[in-house]
Amino acid sequence: MDHRLRRSALTARLDDLGVDGVLVTALPNVRYLTGFTGSNAVTLVARDDAVFLTDGRYIEQSRHEVSDLERVISSDGFDAEVAAHASRLGIARLGIEATSVTVAEHRRLAERLTGVELVALEAPVEQGRRAKDADELDALRRAQAVTDEAFEEILETIEVGMSEQQLAASLEAALRRDGAHGLAFPPIVAFGECAAEPHHAPSHRLLEEGDVIKVDFGARWDGYHSDMTRTVAFGSPAAELRKIHDVVREAQQAGIDMVRAGVTTGAVDAAARRVIADAGYGERFTHGLGHGVGLEIHEGPWLRPNGDDELPAGAAVTIEPGVYVPGLGGVRVEDMVEVTDDGCRVIGTSTRELIEL
Ligand code: ZN
Ligand code: ZN
Repeated sequence: MDHRLRRSALTARLDDLGVDGVLVTALPNVRYLTGFTGSNAVTLVARDDAVFLTDGRYIEQSRHEVSDLERVISSDGFDAEVAAHASRLGIARLGIEATSVTVAEHRRLAERLTGVELVALEAPVEQGRRAKDADELDALRRAQAVTDEAFEEILETIEVGMSEQQLAASLEAALRRDGAHGLAFPPIVAFGECAAEPHHAPSHRLLEEGDVIKVDFGARWDGYHSDMTRTVAFGSPAAELRKIHDVVREAQQAGIDMVRAGVTTGAVDAAARRVIADAGYGERFTHGLGHGVGLEIHEGPWLRPNGDDELPAGAAVTIEPGVYVPGLGGVRVEDMVEVTDDGCRVIGTSTRELIEL
């Protein structure tokens, strides 16, 4: 991954952002710009130079991961060092990340950086993260390959009387066994009527004949996440749930068919939402159609009603329509797709049709 190139892309935008440098504090952004994978660091990116700051736990790790930058080790906070380097780099207007810096941190920075104007910026680095490069897409594909493999494995183990928590545990174990570097997020496992909650936390609910099983899970690979949802029928599902699965699947396909570079996020959302509304379940689709996936499980671009963001080629987004009927259950089908100039490629390989166990 070419971190220097990514920093250059940010410095090329400094004039547009109206600043002389950016203090990057959100860890996924620090990782994106430097390659650092630890839990505490910031980087100060100025026009002609950049500095990386971390604490004493990461002296060795940062030497390997961030070998192309000046590294500063400070185990007593970064404010004093940031002030010194901002002054050395001639920064009069310093961009900070509006969604990362807390009120307390902002106050401390303002006290320390006398004579420097702090400018709150909306997603200065995230903008560049929306379109993935070849290495990032490769990591996303690997994360999804592990996810597909784990899904196939756990289908074999599902049996009447097991709890949602037990299935979540075997899903986690399968992801680890298949080589995931970690979980993308704690898996969502919902049986029967519990599937009416879009983000149900696995409980002691036991699996019964005729339940639907909704699983939403993913793996991490080199810091990149995968995200997939499948709704499986255990035994013969209620006729309405079978119908809902058809509707959701058709809605997902309509969304997938609408994706290509340059189309707005709102247009993709609308294409899928129309199918669900036409089937009479418009009120039961209670969330946005999808989100970007990368160094974070949820990141831009956001596929939402009326979204006017244009999808760039190389973006990786989920298409995940769902219908949730309290008391009955719910269905969601989610896949990640890679946006191309003339369409998209579905990243996963698991079947999107209803699996009946
Ligand atoms: Zn998901
Ligand atoms: Zn998702």
